[in-house]
Amino acid sequence: MGAPAGASAIVNGLSVDVEDWFQVGAFERVIDRAEWDGLTDRVDRNVREILDLFDEVGAKATFFTLGWVAQRHGPLLREIAARGHEMASHGWDHQRVFRFDRKSFGQDIARARQVIEDVSGTAVTGYRAPSFSIDQRTTWAFEELAEQGYAYSSSVAPIAHDHYGWKEAPRFAFHPLPGSSLIEIPVTTAMLANRRMAAGGGGFFRVLPYGFSRWAIRQVNRDDGRPAIFYFHPWEVDPDQPRVPNAPLKSRLRHYTNLSRMAPKLRRLVRDFAWGRMDDLAEQELMRLQAASA
Ligand SMILES: [Zn+2]
Repeated sequence: MGAPAGASAIVNGLSVDVEDWFQVGAFERVIDRAEWDGLTDRVDRNVREILDLFDEVGAKATFFTLGWVAQRHGPLLREIAARGHEMASHGWDHQRVFRFDRKSFGQDIARARQVIEDVSGTAVTGYRAPSFSIDQRTTWAFEELAEQGYAYSSSVAPIAHDHYGWKEAPRFAFHPLPGSSLIEIPVTTAMLANRRMAAGGGGFFRVLPYGFSRWAIRQVNRDDGRPAIFYFHPWEVDPDQPRVPNAPLKSRLRHYTNLSRMAPKLRRLVRDFAWGRMDDLAEQELMRLQAASA
């Protein structure tokens, strides 16, 4: 291996949180889970659009999928896996981790994993908590993930945010439990004036000009010498999704801003950087952590 060729030498982690437009945390209080089955399905067409977009440049990714979605979309999951992507778990029906105790959390993730593995025909070794909801209150979740044999989690936002965040957590991959190989790979933050800012997707990517995201990922690759972790949702590429009129204004602003600009932005993102699956990235991070502690 020669000298690093710069940012382009680093393969970043690309991820999609597979949930439909009515399953997002922002609409939780206005759309009951009991209504989900009667609502218009958009996740199938949206994920297929994303698969085509990734194929344009040969980008590989991880699809953290709800068990609820997996149960209803067998052919879609098999398509994702057949096109070379990783299937992973996003829990059963988007309950955030702090709503559970350890036992009920264990049941939730076991149920989701079973269905995702059965319908996709691939092994699940990765987990992402809904709304990045593992934080200092719920570190028992790591014990449960380790016990169920997961290789990695990508469930922490190491930042202070109004809905989530664990601001003291490390910015990059770490072992959350002593004596366990489980690693947590937090979503990307960038440093601006000595403060962490969320830079791994979500509103940051969709609302701000693309140049901010490019700057942030370059900063992480070049200054930190580390891969960035990026995530988005299928509903973000779908300007034609049904509107939820009775949701709070702030939620609506967040959810519907710039939906039509998302696909062109994603196209630039996947072209400007190298992207790969989270399980491959987790393996590399594990070797790096082992080398560092040897
Ligand atoms: Zn989610």
